[in-house]
Amino acid sequence: MQYPVYLQLTGTENVYAIQGPSRFWECTRMGGQTMCHDVIATTWPERQRILDMLSDDGPWSAVAREDFEAAWKAGGGQPSVDHEAFHLQEHVDLAAYTTFGIHAKARWFADITSLEALRAALDWARSHNRELLVLGGGSNMLLHGDVDALVLRIQLHGTTVLSDDGQRVQVAVGAGEVWHDFVMDTLDRGWGGLENLSLIPGSVGASPMQNIGAYGVEIKDHFAWLDAVRVSDGALQRFNAQECAFGYRESVFKREERGKWILVQVAFDLDRESPLRMGYGAIEEELKHLAPEDRTHRDVSDAVIRIRRSKLPDPAEIGNAGSFFKNPTVPASVANTLLAAHPHMPNYPQPSGEVKLAAGWLIEQAGWKGHRRETHGVHDRQALVLVHFGGATGQEVWALAQDIMASVEDKFGVALEPEVNQIGAKAP
Ligand SMILES: Cc1cc2nc3c(=O)[nH]c(=O)nc-3n(C[C@H](O)[C@H](O)[C@H](O)COP(=O)(O)OP(=O)(O)OC[C@H]3O[C@@H](n4cnc5c(N)ncnc54)[C@H](O)[C@@H]3O)c2cc1C
Repeated sequence: MQYPVYLQLTGTENVYAIQGPSRFWECTRMGGQTMCHDVIATTWPERQRILDMLSDDGPWSAVAREDFEAAWKAGGGQPSVDHEAFHLQEHVDLAAYTTFGIHAKARWFADITSLEALRAALDWARSHNRELLVLGGGSNMLLHGDVDALVLRIQLHGTTVLSDDGQRVQVAVGAGEVWHDFVMDTLDRGWGGLENLSLIPGSVGASPMQNIGAYGVEIKDHFAWLDAVRVSDGALQRFNAQECAFGYRESVFKREERGKWILVQVAFDLDRESPLRMGYGAIEEELKHLAPEDRTHRDVSDAVIRIRRSKLPDPAEIGNAGSFFKNPTVPASVANTLLAAHPHMPNYPQPSGEVKLAAGWLIEQAGWKGHRRETHGVHDRQALVLVHFGGATGQEVWALAQDIMASVEDKFGVALEPEVNQIGAKAP
């Protein structure tokens, strides 16, 4: 459903703009006056009103947006947003809020713990003409400097079971929940599907942004839908998987719809009997002491956690944002030429006919593994990960990333692309 939906109650001058499944604006005519309200439908009667208004057989008919806006203006103009709903802070150091741990200040900052607070914050940013930066766990971003924007740290919590037929479950999760805690919760409840994605840092709300993936699974494999609030007007909209246009570390929210939505809730389809996926990486090897029929989703999760701990630096000990670059995909002809010169080069033919290469291998072959520049460098066990030892600026880390990209391009003719979001990067 595309919101807002503009309606008129037949036989009256009352007009409505439905902003989403749980919010509508209402303008009613009383005693020659127009009264307008912004109704947040958190309880059943209001939610039922929205369903009634949207049903085909009710006394409501479509009205032009201009007609609604004229009534809205006559009735007092702006939606009644509660500005007390969010607590605005200034000059907040973001080092503790990102896993790179690089010092950079947010000009304005607010923790967002409710939809009401989110809408109030968006309204504040609009009326003060401020840019926005949305922050989850800060594990996929490099701050190039102070952030001259309102930084919203999404802290929307809660997990709701929407359906459970004894085998399959649909569960909706607040965007501010910690991804790994949510995965552990699903395993505690006996639900399978997300075990291969254990120990990925960050929030549930950011997981669809780049369709997080690991060990042969991506969230798109278990995604049901998500709710997002539109930055321009606070309207709530539901997106299905097709509308999210998931790809390899991609979604519509990183491309066409970039910066237009704040994800507030994500729903997943899980299954108590979903097949175990052990064919990727060293999972099978880790589980060889267990008979195949005895292995559980929890065993796969434990194996993934052990492997990840042995390979990846823990952001609590050393600043990093995981894989800094995406694995590049090249035409088969390019891969074949490279394979002739480097017969041991890892390569993964794709259904499209193209071939995916391992960025970590290319970087290591170009001599960067373990490279150190005092305050920052390349991890000594995983060349795909750039690390911050303390005292570096975002621009210094970015300069290292650019040197790596230039050197890989020079040696292999392959262009690397950062996976990590570059915040405040200057246009080249
Ligand atoms: C050690 C380590 C290992 C990692 N391993 C993996 C891995 O195996 N696979 C993988 O896919 N990723 C991996 N990552 C990357 C990272 O964990 C994921 O991308 C994660 O989903 C980022 O979540 P976050 O909440 O920290 O996002 P943030 O870094 O806070 O934000 C990332 C982007 O999403 C936006 N954003 C965040 N929340 C919202 C929201 N609610 N609404 C709208 N926009 C939002 C931000 O503005 C930003 O552009 C790893 C990172 C680290 C540090």
